[in-house]
Amino acid sequence: MALDLDDRQRAMLKQMGIRVWLPRADAEAPAPVATLAPLAPLVPLAPPAPQAQHARSEVAAGPAPLVRPAAPSSAALAARPAGVEAMDWSALRTAVAGCEACKLCSTRRNTVFGVGAERADWMVVGEAPGENEDLQGEPFVGQAGKLLDNMLRAVGLSRAGSADGTDSAVAGANGGVFIANVLKCRPPGNRNPQPDEIAQCEPFLKRQVALVQPKVILAMGRFAVQSLLQSDEPIGKLRGRVHQYEGVPLVVTYHPAYLLRNLPDKAKAWADLCLARATLNARQ
Ligand code: URA
Repeated sequence: MALDLDDRQRAMLKQMGIRVWLPRADAEAPAPVATLAPLAPLVPLAPPAPQAQHARSEVAAGPAPLVRPAAPSSAALAARPAGVEAMDWSALRTAVAGCEACKLCSTRRNTVFGVGAERADWMVVGEAPGENEDLQGEPFVGQAGKLLDNMLRAVGLSRAGSADGTDSAVAGANGGVFIANVLKCRPPGNRNPQPDEIAQCEPFLKRQVALVQPKVILAMGRFAVQSLLQSDEPIGKLRGRVHQYEGVPLVVTYHPAYLLRNLPDKAKAWADLCLARATLNARQ
């Protein structure tokens, strides 16, 4: 990939742990074009946790199973909290915390609602809580979360506020970000989300998107991407263009847990972030 990078962009890549071979613009030799070489990260990353915390990511080889939400049965529909589509933040938080619309309610320790600014230009959507998230009630708190935080920092964002939203009403720098998952409860043993679980949880995410009113959604990982886009295509085929979810531009990227195991693909994730930022800027 050929890139012209300024000092700020170099710093961003450094935060993501991407090393760039590029003569500086102020160097004596002419330095027009960069070769983005996704080598060993400059920021040392802790090795991926050995537990199966993110086993469901697209790390797994082989064809991806279909994750399209199944049409919920009438019994399941009855178990859904009513009126989600009209809820305000407070009602939505309460509905998620007490949700018993699928079997995951019997094994979760906490629901994981989401974190960040309640009105934000960016929305990041992951798959489902893992063990740490289930314990702490906040999305992306493990190693993958640290990488996500670095990625966000690279575009001038940080997760602001607390899991209960008490201090998160105002978007922070650069329009702010809200981070959520497709599923609000942890699948036991971090197994893959099942279509009925995705279908039951979808109204919550839809309402979050309506309340946050993001200008761009960054969908991370196969399950988030395929369930939001109702597509069976692999991430590799969906990257690099702008999709739509509920009328909001959506950019596809790899899950941070996958990136921890596939460091060279961080360069692609950086390109995805740049596409998301350009998409947002075009809407300003
Ligand atoms: N992976 C996700 O997709 N979401 C989380 O919150 C944690 C790990």
